[in-house]
Amino acid sequence: MCNVEQAVEYIKKKNVKFIRFQFVDIHGTPKNIAFPVKEGNSGDEELYDVLSKGLYFDGSSIDGFVSIEGSDMMLKPDLSTLFVLPWRSAEKPAARIICDVCYPNGKPFEGDPRGCLKKMLDKFDEQLNGQYFVGPEPEFFVLKQDACGSWVPADNAGYFDLEPVDTGCDIRKKIVCALEDLGLHVEASHHEVAAGQHEVDFRFADAVKTADNVITFKTAIKTIASQNGLMATFMPKPFFGVNGSGMHCHQSIWLNNEPSFYDENAKYQLSGICMDYIGGILEHAKSIVAVTNPTVNSYKRMVPGYEAPANIAWANSNRSAIIRVPAPRGKGTRIEFRAPDPSCNPYLAFTVMLAAGLDGVKKKGGAPEPVEKNIFKMTEAQKKAEGIESVPASLKAALEELETNTILKDALGKHIYESFLEIKTAEWDSFRTAVTDWETANYLRL
Ligand code: GLN
Ligand code: MG
Ligand code: MG
Ligand code: MG
Repeated sequence: MCNVEQAVEYIKKKNVKFIRFQFVDIHGTPKNIAFPVKEGNSGDEELYDVLSKGLYFDGSSIDGFVSIEGSDMMLKPDLSTLFVLPWRSAEKPAARIICDVCYPNGKPFEGDPRGCLKKMLDKFDEQLNGQYFVGPEPEFFVLKQDACGSWVPADNAGYFDLEPVDTGCDIRKKIVCALEDLGLHVEASHHEVAAGQHEVDFRFADAVKTADNVITFKTAIKTIASQNGLMATFMPKPFFGVNGSGMHCHQSIWLNNEPSFYDENAKYQLSGICMDYIGGILEHAKSIVAVTNPTVNSYKRMVPGYEAPANIAWANSNRSAIIRVPAPRGKGTRIEFRAPDPSCNPYLAFTVMLAAGLDGVKKKGGAPEPVEKNIFKMTEAQKKAEGIESVPASLKAALEELETNTILKDALGKHIYESFLEIKTAEWDSFRTAVTDWETANYLRL
């Protein structure tokens, strides 16, 4: 659906009773206001009006939206995102539309994460006639409640297992079907390494569409799990001692409508642009992770031994490096940034990844040589000799990097940058002052 007439037709044909006008806060948590569709001529007029002009709302209590003068805001629907929600009752169906957050006069609101990504992409398009494509690999756990009420992995299967070991295949099937109903092109789904852990991959697209898809993906999975008496979690490291959940991001940039990462004659068949882009991501990696790995728990995933990156290096196949370049060449040449986890706000994550990569392209600094050795097995001294740095050890350390990064500050814009630092610093302080189970286990007998 693209124009208002087609949207109205779809709503009527599907007998939609509620339209959820959806957006996200600074964390990437979806929020919505439901608009009830009414019968009759005046109902039709109202529907036409709200779809073409937008819906007014009070943005004052949304995280990251505060401190705006006057809290009157408008949700401007992106009609291409109109879909009936497969998990709502068929009797009075509900649909959703993803919206841009604007001021009442239609001007984009600087605190809107989707608007932030769009602005970054518009600038890229204006300056270099460029497009940015992202394909994420989100992982998650499905949990069940045990007899004591604790949430534990819902199955005991491992990587690529099938039934009868993988009892999770039924919930995966329901998830994949719901995602397809919502317009996602699912390419693969499988059990992941840890018990109860899964991965569902959907086709790459331009960055805004992919970020919208990530939000849809998480909402759908959490809802389907909950309707089946289970809980899906996108917490990056829910259990100590086993793999955490990442959201590796495959990405490439196109310039003048052509893929730009492939060069048949270059070393590794990677173009100069690709090397510069890799160099940019590596240079800014320590600050990028504040946004792509934005929770206290995120930093418990990025430790050696669990296939999550802990080191700032790139490689052709080595999974201990933060960037890997998958084997396909030609049009499909892309890099895989392995740091992000699914607790991130995808709009902001894609904004900072692109900003960092493009800074590399602008500086034309290339990239260091790839590191094909298993970095997890190197000593600190060996890593130092090879110039390999570690990712920040905590959210606090990452926020400190972000605090001095002017490239990412520019990309996020003053409003989001300042709100993000303020909210995340408060989150860190809340953790810092809490007394954890680990502390009582280790220190109570002091
Ligand atoms: N779960 C791993 C991570 O945290 C990835 C494992 C995999 O995809 N094989 O990044
Ligand atoms: Mg995968
Ligand atoms: Mg995986
Ligand atoms: Mg991967």
